[in-house]
Amino acid sequence: MSQDLLDYRKPLPARKGYAREFYEFCRKHELRFQRCADCGTWRHIPRDLCAKCASTRWEWGKSSGRGKVFSWTTVMQPMLPNFETPYSPVVVELEEGVRMVTWLVGVKPEELRLDMPVEVAFEDVTAEVTLPKFRKT
Ligand code: ZN
Repeated sequence: MSQDLLDYRKPLPARKGYAREFYEFCRKHELRFQRCADCGTWRHIPRDLCAKCASTRWEWGKSSGRGKVFSWTTVMQPMLPNFETPYSPVVVELEEGVRMVTWLVGVKPEELRLDMPVEVAFEDVTAEVTLPKFRKT
């Protein structure tokens, strides 16, 4: 393990239930979302029922990892330790239609633009946790 991994001091995602499965795919650098086995609709956050057809049958479909910036906010006042401000949590809309809250790497808050094309950039932050961040394409 590198020193960088030992030094990660930001909050880590809870990894229980479906979230544990989601982050286990991330550890393998695979971005997967639930996809309805009956109507094909993708969904995120993971849950038991399809919002379109109410089916309980689903699979972990592999995402292209490509999307665009849907929205963001810029934090000027840190709410937790170990965050340097300003920083911008971003909502990315994937090609599959799902949206997720994430981070862009290598993009300053003032450089963000609506519909900016992005792709997933996995970041191994600890030995157990990989975060699905994104970078500009
Ligand atoms: Zn469905």
